[in-house]
Amino acid sequence: MRVFQDIVVGSGPGGAITSHFLKKAGRDVLLIEAGSRLFQQDTVAFSKDEMLRKYWNGGVTVTLGTPRIPFILGKCFGGGSEINAGIYHRASPQVLEEWARRFQLRDIDAASLNEHYEYFEKELTVSSMPDSLIPKASKVLAEGARKLNWKCFEVPRWFDYDKAENQKQTMSETFLSRNIELDLEMVFEKTVRKLKQENGIWRVLTFEGDSYHAENIFVCAGAVQTPSILMRSGIGRNVGKSLQLHPTIKATALFDDEINTEGMGVPVHQVREFSPAISLGCSISSLPYLSLALSEFKNYPTFARENWKRMSTYYAMIRPESCARIINIPFTRDPVIRYDLSDRDIANLLFGLKKLCQLLFAAGARKVFPSLLDEKFILDSEDQIESKLTRVDRKLIQLMSIHLFGSCPMGENPALCATDSYGRINDREGLYVNDASLLCTSLGLNPQGTLMCFARRNVLHFLETRGG
Ligand SMILES: Cc1cc2nc3c(=O)[nH]c(=O)nc-3n(C[C@H](O)[C@H](O)[C@H](O)COP(=O)(O)OP(=O)(O)OC[C@H]3O[C@@H](n4cnc5c(N)ncnc54)[C@H](O)[C@@H]3O)c2cc1C
Repeated sequence: MRVFQDIVVGSGPGGAITSHFLKKAGRDVLLIEAGSRLFQQDTVAFSKDEMLRKYWNGGVTVTLGTPRIPFILGKCFGGGSEINAGIYHRASPQVLEEWARRFQLRDIDAASLNEHYEYFEKELTVSSMPDSLIPKASKVLAEGARKLNWKCFEVPRWFDYDKAENQKQTMSETFLSRNIELDLEMVFEKTVRKLKQENGIWRVLTFEGDSYHAENIFVCAGAVQTPSILMRSGIGRNVGKSLQLHPTIKATALFDDEINTEGMGVPVHQVREFSPAISLGCSISSLPYLSLALSEFKNYPTFARENWKRMSTYYAMIRPESCARIINIPFTRDPVIRYDLSDRDIANLLFGLKKLCQLLFAAGARKVFPSLLDEKFILDSEDQIESKLTRVDRKLIQLMSIHLFGSCPMGENPALCATDSYGRINDREGLYVNDASLLCTSLGLNPQGTLMCFARRNVLHFLETRGG
């Protein structure tokens, strides 16, 4: 029987970084990934083919509750980093203070976290987009904010703009490629079902019927699958009860001028006037996405196809107070996610939507299609915002989310935390979590920068204290 020193489950940002530092330290490591071994060039960004080959369940994942919230997870070599927009933020000091106070999360002073943030900013060439490349759809948002005197920034991304192709510095492009050079052992299309500890050795069982053995397990399967694996393995304390999402509502705007081009990608400006409670920004606006955004409006069957160059989609995203619960269903791979948004969260979403529509009209929009399930909500001018968007039945609100975290919070507070301050499951020797599940609460910002910072901090701590 082969016993690895470490098995890492999942190759998203958490797993890619964890396996890289373990392997670089000379350890005997196996990486197990449910998705396929695909690289950036194997699919076209934001295409249907990409959805089918790199998204969990082809992109069909949804919470239970009213409203139901579709969410997206990556399922491929590199996980979410392969399909995301690459938008980078550090956590705000207020959020870190809250984690230290409520979750008793240790050792998160600015000086020690800065080192990790700076490492990734350099390694992943976190940088601003050259001005000549900034899409018009992004510039109109900035222009609207300027007219309203609202705070608006171009957000940096992990892009290497000097490269001719594969500019996005995904995990397959960076840490996983380095892992290949280091001869890291990897298996693909194997979905971990359960973990068992027998005589001090961990056994990893997959749905495909394989089993692998190691002294230490790092579960990095993302904020939904990590708690699901732990719960199937009988580990339930503070696991899967506090999943957080960033509920996001969208609005698609029509302008006089052309603002959209083929292959535009995701525009880079965010409005932070109402942060951290609400942030406003730009969404992917390719023709298939615009057609989908208008698909509920029966009187506009060809509108997106005829006008797509003058249209773009924008979002309002909230930092919610509500938490979701992950519930495993026997004999299935996918847990159910029960998520009931509080009335305050719904009110915040509608407030964010109104502010977004105000911004779009200030930017010169001629028509705005909010993502609400009735044509009566379509707006032709700013003065319709209050009358049309003030009382909206929650059943008519169409939301989505791409940021999930907080399902196994780290820290020393026994009432709230699933792991210690460095991701170790408290009462199990050799079992760690090191992905978005650890982030204690919603950041109100794109999370991958902070998740990478903590993943490196935690794996280096493991190497210093236990695995050196
Ligand atoms: C469309 C989209 C856009 C986004 N844009 C941004 C952005 O611009 N900036 C930002 O900061 N964040 C963004 N995010 C969020 C970011 O991608 C995630 O926060 C990040 O990928 C989470 O990393 P992770 O390692 O926790 O999990 P994941 O990236 O989800 O990786 C988990 C991996 O584990 C594998 N896995 C799951 N279950 C199992 C199992 N049972 N056995 C084996 N393997 C398993 C999965 O296949 C996956 O590859 C975006 C996300 C999406 C979906």
